[in-house]
Amino acid sequence: MNLLHGQDATCPHCWETINLTLDLSVPEQSYVEDCPVCCKPMVVTYTTADGEVAELSVESGE
Ligand SMILES: [Zn+2]
Repeated sequence: MNLLHGQDATCPHCWETINLTLDLSVPEQSYVEDCPVCCKPMVVTYTTADGEVAELSVESGE
């Protein structure tokens, strides 16, 4: 199953709006991604329910 979902989020470093691609086929996931604007690491954590994003948090990875 391939359920990729574009989700807007705010970078915890530069406060720019960024677009994350989330895999909704996974019920719970946490990973580190570099901000495409300021290139600093951010920890993306999310849970999904019924193919939708239930909770999303983006925190500083430093
Ligand atoms: Zn940033």
